Amino acid sequence: MAKNTGPACKLCRREGEKLFLKGERCFSPKCAFERRNFAPGQHGRSGGHSRSATGRESDYAKQLRAKQKARRVYGVYERQFRRYYGKALKARGVTGLVLLQTLESRLDNVVYRLGYASSRAHARLLVTHGHFTVNGRRTDIPSMTLKAGDVVAVREGSLKSKYFKELPPFAETHTPPAWLGRDLKGLSGNVLRLPERAEIEGSLNEQLIVEYYSR
Ligand code: SF4
Repeated sequence: MAKNTGPACKLCRREGEKLFLKGERCFSPKCAFERRNFAPGQHGRSGGHSRSATGRESDYAKQLRAKQKARRVYGVYERQFRRYYGKALKARGVTGLVLLQTLESRLDNVVYRLGYASSRAHARLLVTHGHFTVNGRRTDIPSMTLKAGDVVAVREGSLKSKYFKELPPFAETHTPPAWLGRDLKGLSGNVLRLPERAEIEGSLNEQLIVEYYSR
């Protein structure tokens, strides 16, 4: 059996595509999706995600999959995801886009996008352990929503740790999106503006997510 297939990899196999949840491993031959490209479980080979390819998937199933995929990509629980949707619905602007912008503006995602963690899950862990500050104040809340003008930085005390000392060469290989500024020397970054749709994961389908919650 796939010994190295953690729960995160099962989510990729369930969605029928790589969600890049495990950092560097996702780009290596060890990627479970590369080795076992069928849905997990007893009926994985016969049913699972392959149903969409045969056109038998119902509208509801497509909407559900789109919502689950977004939840899994950003590592958000159902309750919180629904809360984000509720806020997006009330906000000005296109609901689906506002929802995606809210997800992108989470502190853990920003840390990941800045190249300071190998995956969102890793970023979440680093934030939870108190390695980052927002506008000079230490925080351990990965779900914190950032806005234009906010500054994220590695906490001074953490700069001495092996991980952050060795981080710049790794971070350099990851170009942050244009809506974020980065100071690699100071291991910090700032939010310049909200991301545009083209700067957000293209394979997410916000329209289907909105349809799912509008049923
Ligand atoms: Fe696992 Fe990453 Fe491959 Fe997904 S893309 S199956 S998380 S290694």
